[in-house]
Amino acid sequence: MFGMYGLYWDPTYILVIIGAVICMIASSHVNRTYRIYQQVRSNSGLTGAQTAERIVRAYGLNGVTVRHVSGNLTDHYNPSDKTLNLSDAVYASASVAAIAVAAHECGHAIQHQKGYVPLRMRGALVPVANFGSTIAWPMILIGLFINSRSGMLLIQAGILCFSLAVLFQLVTLPVEFDASRRALHVIEDLGIVGHEEMKLSRKVLVAAALTYVAGAASAILQLLRLILLFGGRDDD
Ligand SMILES: [Zn+2]
Repeated sequence: MFGMYGLYWDPTYILVIIGAVICMIASSHVNRTYRIYQQVRSNSGLTGAQTAERIVRAYGLNGVTVRHVSGNLTDHYNPSDKTLNLSDAVYASASVAAIAVAAHECGHAIQHQKGYVPLRMRGALVPVANFGSTIAWPMILIGLFINSRSGMLLIQAGILCFSLAVLFQLVTLPVEFDASRRALHVIEDLGIVGHEEMKLSRKVLVAAALTYVAGAASAILQLLRLILLFGGRDDD
């Protein structure tokens, strides 16, 4: 048996480090991009909240309400109560970054209204992925302490649970890309931004999308590590 081997400094740990570095780079890139474009006042002078209100009206997003939520980068659309939640830096700011983020959240509301399939899949996966990511590591750790075939089965079940969380991260990608694509189309369509501001808005949304790509890549690397450690081995 491998005992505690494989949980700390085995060679495959490099995959976890690579994943963490990718996430750090993506997150510092998005923070830097936000900082820059929060300083750029939009020509329309619309705040994030006003942008969202305008899109909600223009696209007939019935029942969607725009709200203020505290925190930094906490912006999200909640399909269960149809609330569009905009953070401190977005709600009352008339910057290019605020408009891009507000429009992105409207993109999710439009997906919801249109019954966009990846969004529905993502919604269905939330409880499964939460359960999977909570239980995966305890199962693997307990499995390691059991010197028998059932220990190995427990580890494999733990890896399966972990892969549900990875699947969630993968389904998130088309949902996020599509919301940003819709956002850019909408703000151009409604004349909220001009040609130059479109380029800046795209930069903000691309930077945000990269954090999801980094998150998914890091999750895949962790899954790969688990498979390398335990996948091909069977208990004697
Ligand atoms: Zn989003």
